[in-house]
Amino acid sequence: MSYYNLMHDPKENRKTCIECGKTFTWSEDGPFYPGGKGTEYINCPYCGAGNGSIRTSGYVFTSKIEE
Ligand SMILES: [Zn+2]
Repeated sequence: MSYYNLMHDPKENRKTCIECGKTFTWSEDGPFYPGGKGTEYINCPYCGAGNGSIRTSGYVFTSKIEE
């Protein structure tokens, strides 16, 4: 797991978990392999529930939002 503290990733998205209702962020991260697209699932970092999926050649990272 790595965090983008220096770069502001424009692809970062907010999502509210369908199961527990908490808000988290998810973003795509590399390395991006050309032609290596697969399905990555967006899982809630609080309860692990599936919140959809995307097609990407990288990985999906999710982070809790502390408020
Ligand atoms: Zn959840």
